[in-house]
Amino acid sequence: MTDNTTLWIRDPLDCADPDAAGGIVIQGTRILEKVAAGAKPKRPVDNIFDASQHVLLPGLVNTHHHFYQTLTRAYSPALNKELFPWLTTLYEVWANLDEEQLALASELAMVELLMSGCTTVADHHYVFSGALLNAIDCQVETAQRLGVRAALTRGSMSVGQEDGGLPPQSVVQDERTILEDSQRLIQRYHQRGDGAMTTIALAPCSPFSVSRELMQESARLAETQDVRLHTHLAETEDETAYCQRLFGMRPLDYLEECGWLSNRTWLAHGIHFNDDEVKRLGRAGTGIAHCPSSNMVLGSGMCRALELEAAGAPVGIGVDGSASNDHSNLASEMRQALLLGRLRYSPSQVTHEDIIRWATRGSAHCLGRPDIGDLEPGQQADIALFKLDELRFSGAENPLAALLLCGAQRADRVMVAGRWRIIDGLPCKIDLDALMARHNSAAKRLRNAL
Ligand SMILES: [Zn+2]
Repeated sequence: MTDNTTLWIRDPLDCADPDAAGGIVIQGTRILEKVAAGAKPKRPVDNIFDASQHVLLPGLVNTHHHFYQTLTRAYSPALNKELFPWLTTLYEVWANLDEEQLALASELAMVELLMSGCTTVADHHYVFSGALLNAIDCQVETAQRLGVRAALTRGSMSVGQEDGGLPPQSVVQDERTILEDSQRLIQRYHQRGDGAMTTIALAPCSPFSVSRELMQESARLAETQDVRLHTHLAETEDETAYCQRLFGMRPLDYLEECGWLSNRTWLAHGIHFNDDEVKRLGRAGTGIAHCPSSNMVLGSGMCRALELEAAGAPVGIGVDGSASNDHSNLASEMRQALLLGRLRYSPSQVTHEDIIRWATRGSAHCLGRPDIGDLEPGQQADIALFKLDELRFSGAENPLAALLLCGAQRADRVMVAGRWRIIDGLPCKIDLDALMARHNSAAKRLRNAL
C-alpha cells in the first residue's frame, strides 16, 4: 500500500495500546487514527484486515547488533569466555571478512529480525579490513532491498595491539580515513525527518579500540552533520579497569570528556554505572541499548534499566551481535529482558507492558525517532501482528502477556511504512532455504580462511 488508500487493521485480539482496542487505520505510509473498542473509523475505509486472531504491537525496534557476527555463531574457539578473551579470539576471524560474506550476513540478520516483528534495525559495523572498505554501502543496499527501516552506524577501530588496544592491527584504520568515510556516508545515504528509511550514525567501537582524538572528532562531526552517536560503554569491569589505567578515569567520565554525554548518543549495554552516573545519563538524555541475552552469555552483568529510565535516560532493547547471543530474534529478546529484569528487581516492577514499551517507544527514543515506536496518528505505519496458534500459547488467557510469558518467536504479519514485509510468517519474495545455504557456506569459507 503506497498510495493514499486506507486500511483498517480491525478489532485485534489484543493490542499494546488500550486506546487502539478497535484497531488502527493506516493511510499510505502513516497511521491515520486509533479506533476505540467497539467503535468504527471516523470515515469509511477502502480495505479491512480482520485482526481478530492477532495481537497488535507497534513494530519492534532493535537498537544494537553486529550483523556480520551471524557468520560466527556458536564458534567453538570462542565458547565459554568473557568479553576480552572472546573478542581477541574472534577478531582474527573477522579480519578476513569480505563484501559477499557481509551482504549475506546482513540479509540473514535483517530477515531474522523482520520475522520476529522488528521493523527498524540498527547495526554497528566496525570491521573495515582490506577487502571490506564499503561495508556500510553494502548494508544500505541490502536494507533498502528488504524494505526494512535501518539505522546503520559507521563503526571504527583506530587503536590496535601495537598501540595498547585490543584489536589486531589488520582491522584498524587511521582517524582521517575513518572521518572522511563517515562524512561520505552521511552525505550519500543519511535521510532526515519523518519517515526516513535509512539513517547513518557515527560509532567508534569502544574505549579500548579507538583513540581519544577519534572520539572527540566523531562528536564534532556528528554535531555539525546533525547525526547520532553510538558506542559500547560500561559493558564489563575489565573495561572500567582499562579506562582507569589508560585515561585515569571511569568510562562515563571519559565519555563526557570526549563530548559524548548528550541526547545525541545511545550506548550499548550500559551495565557498570554507579548512582551518580545513572543520574548524569538521565539528565543528559543519553539512551541505553539493554542487551540481556548477550550480557548473560558473556556473564557481563545487567544494565540498571529501571533506575536509568526513572532518571530520564531512554531505555531500549538490543539483540546484540550474533556471536554473543546468538540469535537475532527481538521477540525472544523481550522475554529475556522480562526474566532478567525480574531476577534483578521483582515481578511487580518489571511487567510485560514495561518490556514492550522498551522494545518499541524506548528503542525509538534511543535512535532519536519520534515518528516510530507507538501507534499514534501521524506516526509511520510500522506494525507487528502475532498469532497465538502454536502449542506454546494454547490455554493462554491474556494474549498480550502470552507473547512474553509463553515466548513468541515469530510474527504472522509485519508492515513497514505501510507495506507488508512478512505475510503468514514468511518474508515476501525471499527463498529462506537458499539464503541459509549461501549464508552457511559463507560462514564456512570465513572460518576456513584462518
Ligand atoms: Zn555489541
